[in-house]
Amino acid sequence: MTTKDEWIAKDLKYVWHPDTQHKQYEGENFKPILIERGDGIYVYDAEGNQYIDGVSSWWVNTLGHSVPRLNKILYEQANKIEHILLADFTHRPAIELAERLVKLAGEPFAKVFYSDDGSTAVEVAIKMAYQYWYQKGQPQKRYFVSMTDSYHGDTLGSVSVGGIDIYKKIFQPLVFNTLKVSAPYCYRCPAGCQQGKCNIECLKEVVKLFKEHHNEIAAMIVEPLVQGAAGMRMYPAEYLNRLRILCDEYDILLIDDEVAMAFGRTGKYFAFEHAGIKPDIFCVAKGITAGYVPLAATITTDKIYNAFYDDFDKVKTFYHGHSFTGNPIACAVAVETLKIMQEAKIVENLPLKAEIFKKNLQKFKNLKHVGDIRHIGMIGAIELVKDRETKEPYPFEERIGHKVFLEALKMGAILRPIGNIIYFMPPLIITEAQIEMLTQIAYYAIQTVTEPNT
Ligand SMILES: *Cc1c(COP(=O)(O)O)cnc(C)c1O
Repeated sequence: MTTKDEWIAKDLKYVWHPDTQHKQYEGENFKPILIERGDGIYVYDAEGNQYIDGVSSWWVNTLGHSVPRLNKILYEQANKIEHILLADFTHRPAIELAERLVKLAGEPFAKVFYSDDGSTAVEVAIKMAYQYWYQKGQPQKRYFVSMTDSYHGDTLGSVSVGGIDIYKKIFQPLVFNTLKVSAPYCYRCPAGCQQGKCNIECLKEVVKLFKEHHNEIAAMIVEPLVQGAAGMRMYPAEYLNRLRILCDEYDILLIDDEVAMAFGRTGKYFAFEHAGIKPDIFCVAKGITAGYVPLAATITTDKIYNAFYDDFDKVKTFYHGHSFTGNPIACAVAVETLKIMQEAKIVENLPLKAEIFKKNLQKFKNLKHVGDIRHIGMIGAIELVKDRETKEPYPFEERIGHKVFLEALKMGAILRPIGNIIYFMPPLIITEAQIEMLTQIAYYAIQTVTEPNT
């Protein structure tokens, strides 16, 4: 029998992990954790240790781990048809899911284009927006506007519209040019305003850019309300609301990357609902299958779709497709996920839970190195700083977040951080008592690391 240590040795011999510097595993005690099974908000390692999945396994899990209804539907669909190409063929799960997504998002959404993950959903949105203008006789509208420190995926098109140095800097010679506006990072406001007391002054930069370049701009792409990978930076819904108006005014498409935020994460099915707006194109992935299997969708309106609809020889076809476009198993799991969410009123029941979550987060103010506390729906984030007065960050090399992560693991919680930001993104089914437990673990972990003498 292979022991746990032998499995880990083999892992390090054969597996190249994502976003990971493998040299850190040399000598050090910390090694990848071998997970055997999951149940609800918990996962269990090979030694039987229990951990709360505080980050929903990279933001994908909404209904907890190993959900009996989802296990059943996955097996049943595999027994019927596991995969069929989606060009000239179709299947019930793809049809049913598309109808549900369109109805859930509401008018004017009309069409669903499937792909595999968040990055591909963004690639589809970018190409769709550009080809739309091309076919409308405006091929010069070829630039995309995005925010500094934005994250839209790891493929080169999505990296092009992204803005985080560690994902982009090296690849700068390979990506296409985009236009950037300062992100509305309220804790460190680019317009110099005081947090919570502004009139969205940061939008002036957008207005200026749109005014000067609207004739060459195809679309602006945004992460709605929360810049996830940048460290769960949050901004007011009013920003999105006014951005929609500006996009209309300057004839620029609005692409809403809901990959991390859709399906309840912010307390509503889609984050754009908070702003009372509808984008022209939006992308979903992560939570769409409750974290089971990869699936993504780019959803748009008839206004966009009709620009592609013509006689065959006009060559207006959207020539884009992935082998696994609309995979039946993935679509069946997604349909069942939506059914469970609706029957159990998961999203409708979030406000109360979110209030308790928010209250728990306020306690972190007592810690000396907590600079900012952010919250929306089922996301909480704590920005650790070296100096609270000056907001001076901890240096990168200190890996303060990583140290907190290791402490929290010992206490039974997975809180894999983003740099100096400790964040909570638990499965939506987490109970109030479990929220209390999770935040308490984080509190002690942060205290242990940042105030070792107390
Ligand atoms: C995670 C993420 C993506 C990329 O999704 P993948 O499934 O990892 O390719 C794109 N956009 C946003 C906002 C994300 O958070």
